[in-house]
Amino acid sequence: GGADLECEMLVLGAGPGGYSAAFRAADLGMKTVLVERYATLGGVCLNVGCIPSKALLHVAAVTDAANAMAEHGIAFGKPKIDLDKLRGWKEKVVGKLTGGLAGMAKARKVEVVRGVGTFLDPHHLEVALTGGDGQEPTGAKQVLKFGKCIIAAGSQSVKLPFIPDDPRVVDSTGALKLATIPKRMLVIGGGIIGLEMATVYSTLGTRIDVVEMLDGLMAGADRDLVKVWEKVNQPRFGKVMLNTRTTAVKVQKNGLKVSFEGEGAPAEPQLYDMILQAVGRSPNGHKIGAENAGVAVDERGFIATDKQMRTNVGHIFAIGDIAGQPMLAHKAVHEAHVAAEAAAGHNSFFDARQIPSVAYTDPEVAWAGKTEAECKAEGIKYGKAVFPWAASGRAIANGRDEGFTKLIFDEETHRIIGGAIVGTQAGDLISELCLAIEMGCDPVDIGKTIHPHPTLGESVGMAAELFEGVCTDLP
Ligand code: FAD
Repeated sequence: GGADLECEMLVLGAGPGGYSAAFRAADLGMKTVLVERYATLGGVCLNVGCIPSKALLHVAAVTDAANAMAEHGIAFGKPKIDLDKLRGWKEKVVGKLTGGLAGMAKARKVEVVRGVGTFLDPHHLEVALTGGDGQEPTGAKQVLKFGKCIIAAGSQSVKLPFIPDDPRVVDSTGALKLATIPKRMLVIGGGIIGLEMATVYSTLGTRIDVVEMLDGLMAGADRDLVKVWEKVNQPRFGKVMLNTRTTAVKVQKNGLKVSFEGEGAPAEPQLYDMILQAVGRSPNGHKIGAENAGVAVDERGFIATDKQMRTNVGHIFAIGDIAGQPMLAHKAVHEAHVAAEAAAGHNSFFDARQIPSVAYTDPEVAWAGKTEAECKAEGIKYGKAVFPWAASGRAIANGRDEGFTKLIFDEETHRIIGGAIVGTQAGDLISELCLAIEMGCDPVDIGKTIHPHPTLGESVGMAAELFEGVCTDLP
């Protein structure tokens, strides 16, 4: 059939996966079209995810730090919150980054088509053009013909079926809007996204309860890290209900009445002004007409790929949240480069030894490579060294010495296979361990590397030096 536009490479979705893939494909000389339903590029991460949440978490961290100064002899007054200004600042941060992306697309001659894309067959995508601030249909349609395609259509937050539609019930996108500061908020889901938003709102003055179905917060992280986090955060939150589920939400004029069931359930239903649902995200695989292109999508909406990010259809690739866990921006970007390079005929493939995870809470929690729980489950014989920040001059000087730095190494090869840090700046500090794992470093490599003193990063070197047995055994 006829097409309104033809390209060598079509990228569906302009999140961190999609824009990175489009830019790399264009840099490699492919005529590239990028399809996105929203007005701005950047996807969830830039518009309603990583970036706005970090803009608010930064404000929360500085506010908390200022409040804590009274203990050290400098007292500030009670913070005055100008919500409009705070919202404006967050939007400015997002705007700078999405605007930057638009410029980068233009510079590379990546053509952006604004609309909702649906596959017609393995070489055609129909785009229902959109306009306005959201995804309002303009009524017009375009058919795009492509040689190769990278699907980067991302994910959406999961909605619990029994929770009523009410403006006081929000997901992370709603919470990031910062429409009001509720007095009492329930966060359903004790994962990273829920706890980050809980941190922001609690600093702004909201009393927060957290309910989690599993037996611990931040599933995926080793429990020793979470224990430190919990101790610091105990005063910050009301109830943290583990092994507990929300069973019903009743809409009342004076609030949302929530019933619970399980280990941490209070005897009486609780009243909240706002509920944040943060129970995970589901991939958009079933919303793009993938079946028309012959692309296999699993029950949950994920698209399986090989190590070159190719789907079961050879010229169609899938990357980012839609291609599987972990749903993280840096994973999406890395996969994007692999897919674009593979599509351009390069011998690139996905072979990461580690994908780091970070909770940008207070303190931050970061881990990379194997966790201890994974080592145990996989029967890996491992050793570990833990350097407590109570022995770090810088952490003590910062008044934040509750954290620790942990290295995990393979007892047979002596190589570092995992690392984890809980403490302020843990998310930035973990990078050294990411590199160590990728490079196959042993503890001597890190221990004999001179780290600057006094820094929090020094704790990585100090943890490595704790492997005395290992270090002296090595040639
Ligand atoms: P997305 O970012 O979801 O982008 C997909 C794009 O495709 C969207 O723009 C969508 O509009 C578009 N699209 C979908 N279907 C169509 C269609 N049919 N037609 C046209 N366009 C379509 N990750 C981190 O690594 N670090 C963090 O700190 C972090 N914080 C987060 C905080 C929050 C509150 C949330 C919700 C997420 C956070 N994430 C974080 C996760 C991160 O945002 C995602 O992993 C990342 O955005 C995935 O990128 P993607 O390119 O796969 O998809």
